[in-house]
Amino acid sequence: MKVIFHPRFYEVYTSDPAAAPGRMESMVRALEKEFEFVEPGPASERDLERVHGRNHIQSVKGEPQVYEVGILAAGGAILAAEMAFEGQPAFGLIRPPGHHASPHSCWGFCYFNNIAIAIKKLIAEGKIRRALILDFDLHYGDGTANAFSGSPDVIYSHPEGSNRDPFLENLRKPLRTHGEYDILAVSAGFDRHEEDWGGLLKTEDYFSIGKWVKEASIQHCRGRRFGVLEGGYNHAVLGKNVHRFLQGLMD
Ligand SMILES: [Zn+2]
Repeated sequence: MKVIFHPRFYEVYTSDPAAAPGRMESMVRALEKEFEFVEPGPASERDLERVHGRNHIQSVKGEPQVYEVGILAAGGAILAAEMAFEGQPAFGLIRPPGHHASPHSCWGFCYFNNIAIAIKKLIAEGKIRRALILDFDLHYGDGTANAFSGSPDVIYSHPEGSNRDPFLENLRKPLRTHGEYDILAVSAGFDRHEEDWGGLLKTEDYFSIGKWVKEASIQHCRGRRFGVLEGGYNHAVLGKNVHRFLQGLMD
């Protein structure tokens, strides 16, 4: 299990909670002893264009630092997806996050839709045809849903639930029922933790989620699975939550 990370993700490229100083450090500290880190290259403009319109790309370019870190984040998701396709589970420890980035607009601390860019690249290269995207972030990934509207081969699943057990049950259901996919991709947001914005999940739940994803991928798509970071804002618990998720997800 490899962690995809670039030192430029430490940069405070803007003033939102996803770009906050110290956020990546809290996770790197929790992961660096146990996992091998791999540095991604940037996504190409062609990679971005599989999801985003030219005008949107140009407008992000207007903030050069955001653009430079943003294409590394998208490149990190691509590398995680490629490793997963080759049979090596991986996690993109990346920012800015991506699931609120739609083809022609973005909000919610996102600029480019990292996970959509990665999945569309694998499809464009003929490596996969179908994908299941599980998004357990507190917030609905409107950007990801928009990127794949009209693409019946890519299922986007965002479980809801205001109580812990029903939420976890809603999360498991599509892993059991959507049997037809070639890769299982996870938008991993940790803002539903009991000490984060959503106030719901326990740290151990992230281990269970990782394990369910692993089991489903082994059952349905030869173990091909990867995750990318989305939200999660309490630096005091973010590291241990990501750590437990990866322990569940790894072999
Ligand atoms: Zn969120």
